[in-house]
Amino acid sequence: MMDRRMQHDTDPHQEIRDALRALCAQFPDEYHRKVDEARRYPEEFVDALTQAGWMAALIPQEYGGSGLGLTEASVIMEEINRCGGNSGACHGQMYNMGTLLRHGSAEQKDKYLPRIASGEWRLQSMGVTEPTTGTDTTQIKTTAVKKGDRYVVNGQKVWISRIQHSDFMILLARTTPLAEVKKKSEGMSIFMVDLREAIGHGLAVRPIANMVNHETNELFFENLEIPAENLIGEEGMGFRYILDGLNAERTLIAAECIGDGYWFIDRVTRYVKDRTVFGRPIGQNQGVQFPIAEAFIEVEAANLMRWEACRRFDAREPCGTQANMAKYLAAKASWEAANACLQFHGGFGFACEYDVERKFRETRLYQVAPISTNLIFSYVAEHVLGLPRSF
Ligand SMILES: Cc1cc2nc3c(=O)[nH]c(=O)nc-3n(C[C@H](O)[C@H](O)[C@H](O)COP(=O)(O)OP(=O)(O)OC[C@H]3O[C@@H](n4cnc5c(N)ncnc54)[C@H](O)[C@@H]3O)c2cc1C
Repeated sequence: MMDRRMQHDTDPHQEIRDALRALCAQFPDEYHRKVDEARRYPEEFVDALTQAGWMAALIPQEYGGSGLGLTEASVIMEEINRCGGNSGACHGQMYNMGTLLRHGSAEQKDKYLPRIASGEWRLQSMGVTEPTTGTDTTQIKTTAVKKGDRYVVNGQKVWISRIQHSDFMILLARTTPLAEVKKKSEGMSIFMVDLREAIGHGLAVRPIANMVNHETNELFFENLEIPAENLIGEEGMGFRYILDGLNAERTLIAAECIGDGYWFIDRVTRYVKDRTVFGRPIGQNQGVQFPIAEAFIEVEAANLMRWEACRRFDAREPCGTQANMAKYLAAKASWEAANACLQFHGGFGFACEYDVERKFRETRLYQVAPISTNLIFSYVAEHVLGLPRSF
């Protein structure tokens, strides 16, 4: 694998990259292609990552993890995508972990972290999005009402990923009605839901077939009972807590897009050097070179914002702006790299055996999820530029 990144010579993460590349080499393109064709979960790949300790990267050492930061977690995710895989199968455990680490009680950490670190339990799911509220999260309708030592949950979620391959989900629900709070961001809480107990006992799951091989679902809650001790942090503060998780998620997905971007650039560069039409390699034409060079420049630039978002998150500095901007820049850059890669493969770009169409579909998702491009623009317009709130 060629490495054109600017930071290569002094990359402090080279050891992580080398280890990930060695692991990923055991799961070549053909593996990911077949998993995609069968629309099945890459169980063996996620197991190998777990056994090697990568899924416990963020868990402190005293609980059996490696105690690394979001920066290193982002390198892990980047390398998976860089090597042709899709971190979407397993990135949930990384961004959910921050929520548990920052806001969970000592008892909760003692209960969950060692068993997640050992690979016995997976914490891969986060339930925020709802069908009738979309991105307008403070309007969520799912409620959790305290009754004695339990909360009773009713409502619906949509697009909740990896539910069928996770033991736990972090759930955002309203605990105080919207009409009774001063600010609409108040009165929501987060809970740890034990999916093994919940499914079939108040929680119904309906898978959503979709454009990518991404296991995601509709959830229906009907009087689901959760032990009160599963509340994370203080009741009513859940929206603030979930923002930490969302910033981690955006930053990690930026890193995944960077990985995709390099993958597309490597593939297309190699292809256009070899493919000869009109008696010369197509890569000799500036009309072919320029979009590839442009995409490379944009991936490199997006990468700088990704490191800044990681640095701020790990230093516990405000990072919402950088996380959003990194996700925007990286998703855009990877999408442009994907377009150039598909375009210059000509007809072969559409052939599954080249893997370009699969990665093309996978990276397209990040224009929409976990936050759409327009909503990033409105965040920056309002919170950074001080423009009037538009909604
Ligand atoms: C494969 C997949 C996996 C997902 N996994 C999860 C998960 O695990 N957990 C979870 O909670 N969610 C998950 N999601 C949901 C995802 O976060 C949302 O789809 C995303 O945030 C967009 O929300 P929405 O689909 O409701 O779009 P909407 O909010 O309905 O928006 C639709 C479009 O309108 C635009 N728009 C809306 N309002 C405005 C405005 N005021 N100004 C300008 N444009 C606007 C948006 O930019 C967007 O393009 C997943 C989604 C997908 C597709």
